[in-house]
Amino acid sequence: MNPHPAARAEIVVDLDAVRHNVRRLREVAGVPTMTVVKADGYGHGMVEVARAAREAGAEWLGVATLDEAVALRAAGDRGRLLCWLAVPGEDFAAAIAADVDVTASSVAQLEEIAATGAAARVQLKVDTGLSRNGAPLDTWPEVVAAARAGEEVGRWRVTGIWSHFACSDEPDHPANDAQEAAFRHALDVADRAGLRPEVRHLSNSAGALLRPSSRFDLVRFGLASYGLDPAPGHTPDLDLIPAMTVRASLAMVKSIPAGAGVSYGHTWVADTATTLGLVPAGYGDGIPRHASNTAHVLVGGKRRALRGRVCMDQFVVDLDGDLPERGEDVVLFGPGTRGEPTAQDWAEAADTISYEIVTRIGGRMARRYVGR
Ligand SMILES: *Cc1c(COP(=O)(O)O)cnc(C)c1O
Repeated sequence: MNPHPAARAEIVVDLDAVRHNVRRLREVAGVPTMTVVKADGYGHGMVEVARAAREAGAEWLGVATLDEAVALRAAGDRGRLLCWLAVPGEDFAAAIAADVDVTASSVAQLEEIAATGAAARVQLKVDTGLSRNGAPLDTWPEVVAAARAGEEVGRWRVTGIWSHFACSDEPDHPANDAQEAAFRHALDVADRAGLRPEVRHLSNSAGALLRPSSRFDLVRFGLASYGLDPAPGHTPDLDLIPAMTVRASLAMVKSIPAGAGVSYGHTWVADTATTLGLVPAGYGDGIPRHASNTAHVLVGGKRRALRGRVCMDQFVVDLDGDLPERGEDVVLFGPGTRGEPTAQDWAEAADTISYEIVTRIGGRMARRYVGR
């Protein structure tokens, strides 16, 4: 029976699972932990996940944007909090006033922070090979010099130096050794310039789990905090629990004859008579259209194949002759303990990563929490 018959389609987030995962990851890493809650907590709810992570002992939280950091403070978070992505003209003053550690990747960004006139806590980001954010190594000495000069006049304190891996989900990729070596070099340059940061950090989930030498003083766990595997095929079993379940109620059940085409373009045609269930969620709710004809859901204790294209508001599954009632529970994905697919299964079906599955799901779906 469907325990929530009124809900058309919803996301159920298990905060006990988040707490369990954060505790497990802290144990495994053996160093202080930052739980990364950007992008609305990877689709799980930034504020709720942040609270659960703090309860489980996360010393730091991390977000991408200044806005996310300020929103976390407005929601009552008081612990150490780092953000790392800003464009010129953004409001560093608001984040600094909210006691957020901000990141600078260039002298120009340090100047923007200086222009606030506020006593900031600044972390410096160095690009060790991702070629994304962070100061390129050839500019690193001048960034470090400017940061030290600002520290000497009491403008700010440099609390951290950090970087980010490109290939940590491929532990044998040569870029990992190269990036760690470049990071150690960047730390030496900073040390010689007189910087004494509280925390040096390089690793995201996969780096922290698969590369102990890269843990330094702090690790940044995003995906693994939500119970998902950051490096499928490489990560040892850590007893993490996927925190997100997505479920819906069947909107319609019907029989079709052999030869009937299903959904737009008739990309699937029944070769024998069968029964279909209509799931009331589509790409407007973050269901990937690339999962058309490939993903599965759980209905009545069995995995059922998606048939035809995922539409904006709905998709169709093959009930293989079964005729459950309208309103029957459909589990799109969850921890996998009742036989339902996982976010990782959906990622493989849609040729993407579980990060994207959980972060994009939402749209018109309600979100509810268990394990508060
Ligand atoms: C998103 C992000 C993380 C977390 O990465 P996971 O792979 O989810 O653990 C860590 N650091 C930075 C800079 C990030 O942008």
